[in-house]
Amino acid sequence: MEFTYTPLGTASATPSVYRYPSAHVLNIRGRLFLIDCGEACQIRLRRMGISFLKIDHILISHLHGDHLFGLFGLLSSMAMVGRTSLLNLYGPERLRKTLDFFLEEYGEGVKFQIEFHPLGAMQGPQTILSARNLDIQAFPLRHRIPTYGFLFREHEPELNLRKDLVEKYQLGISEMARLKRGDRVIREDGQCLEPEQFTYRPWEPRSFAYCSDTSVFAELPKWIQGVDLLYHEATFADSEVECARTTFHSTARQAAICARTAGVKRLLIGHFSARYPDLSKLLSEARSEFEAVDIATELTTFEVPLKKY
Ligand SMILES: [Zn+2]
Ligand SMILES: [Zn+2]
Repeated sequence: MEFTYTPLGTASATPSVYRYPSAHVLNIRGRLFLIDCGEACQIRLRRMGISFLKIDHILISHLHGDHLFGLFGLLSSMAMVGRTSLLNLYGPERLRKTLDFFLEEYGEGVKFQIEFHPLGAMQGPQTILSARNLDIQAFPLRHRIPTYGFLFREHEPELNLRKDLVEKYQLGISEMARLKRGDRVIREDGQCLEPEQFTYRPWEPRSFAYCSDTSVFAELPKWIQGVDLLYHEATFADSEVECARTTFHSTARQAAICARTAGVKRLLIGHFSARYPDLSKLLSEARSEFEAVDIATELTTFEVPLKKY
């Protein structure tokens, strides 16, 4: 039942000696999702001991090179290590053209199918994947080119029956099934069994949101309301707020205000400008707005713990 997030790269624009370009891995119960694929992503995956063959979903937020230039190297390496299973690729529509070019020019050894899921114009969140135990939504961000954030949310778990009451009321199989579905049971003698009394939710569904690159805007906190873990870009410090505005990026403080407004449980900031080898200023500016914030330190695995009842 793991739910972990590992930043592989948190540099903006160009790689620096301190940080790598954007790439992030989310592990939800053993399924790996790669979000953005900046240069050298495959080296970072190797450093973390993550097999290229285990990644079945890659999500690209936008087509700026610092989020994309590692993709084709990774696809080539996947072919070289003998991948045969389907790979799902999500990204802006225009990515198809680049993908087709890559496959035409360099795709000879690619023996696996790449299913491209284009992200088009959207006004708000849209579900892009609905799997057995989780949903992924994409939503539009505010950047210089079409850019998408992603929200991963586990499904509600099935309700559990209270064992003591199962015995006490001698519940039958169909009564148990109905109560677990959340339906009321009315017995022949008129006795009414309410699902709220007989069942409990065994654990809280967990969630993670990814917002990079973007400037701040009013709707965003509503779309990521209450998530357990938020990765939000924080390219600049307060002193560069005007630069953040003109380049459609955020300051660390703006990321923290967004997290506070959205009522998220924990914020990790990244996508830092190379002008900040030392990130303490960005962290303290963010902390002055929202306490539960940390640097998304590369190659660190952050866990969203399971809250059981
Ligand atoms: Zn970027
Ligand atoms: Zn960008």
